[in-house]
Amino acid sequence: MRASPFSVVATNRIPPSHFTFTNVLVLLNSQHDLVLRNTNPCPKRSGESVRAQGSVADRGFIPQCRHRVRILGGLASLFEYQGLKISWLGHDGFKIKNGKTVYIDPYQVKAGDEADIILITHEHFDHLSSGSIKRIASPKTTIVTTPVVKSQLSGTTVKEILAAKPGQKILIDGISVETVPSYNVNKFRSPGEPFHSKQEEMLGFIVTMNGVRIYHAGDTDSIPEMEHPNVDIALLPVSGTYVMTAEEAAEASKRIKPKVAIPMHYGSIVGDERDAERFKKLASCEVHVLSKE
Ligand SMILES: [Zn+2]
Ligand SMILES: [Zn+2]
Repeated sequence: MRASPFSVVATNRIPPSHFTFTNVLVLLNSQHDLVLRNTNPCPKRSGESVRAQGSVADRGFIPQCRHRVRILGGLASLFEYQGLKISWLGHDGFKIKNGKTVYIDPYQVKAGDEADIILITHEHFDHLSSGSIKRIASPKTTIVTTPVVKSQLSGTTVKEILAAKPGQKILIDGISVETVPSYNVNKFRSPGEPFHSKQEEMLGFIVTMNGVRIYHAGDTDSIPEMEHPNVDIALLPVSGTYVMTAEEAAEASKRIKPKVAIPMHYGSIVGDERDAERFKKLASCEVHVLSKE
């Protein structure tokens, strides 16, 4: 059985730093122990195998094993699709890499790669984080966002900030960025007043890199405009309250028909892993629940 990459933290002998082992081979024996074999050179212990108690579904256990390695969550923090590396940064934050680096809604990002493009869906604090943006932005970065966010980012050192409305298509360094609507239809802060109204023209994005189309829905309910053609990967909110519930996101996945969906908007402000798992169970497509990078 081949599995996605696992994040592991060495807690003994190896200095306590994070390694992401790629190409980890996972073997489940009859006792449902996990055996992880690092098939990629590890900086400290190339080729050595580690043995851990528990099953893939376990979370946060600390196995007593020869190398004292702790498996974080048993989930991959990285999903690779046709050469694109997609990392979940927590909440609605994603990093997409293939030569160029694209960030979407970076939030609570402590350190990162230099961004070629940063996409911000709307001005709410859990999506627009100027501290996170400063840590990844450089004079070569292009930001695409709403006019409201642009006005709040004046003074940020970047190449340019492009303000967009839903329905635009922008080409940046060979990467296509389409802006699409993102709004509530049944989540209200007070009667008749949605958290995200259509009139506010907040954004979702379809990013096309190397022929792969990735749809980041933003803070939205299931809306008619979601029937985007040919989406390969859909990043969908599942927490409810301000955005779709897991059940609504699963319904939306039937209309979007992506090849793969990754749940988001849980684990920080509202919602938790159970929402992500429920979405995985109900969705009509392949779902990858990622761990925070
Ligand atoms: Zn919001
Ligand atoms: Zn939000």
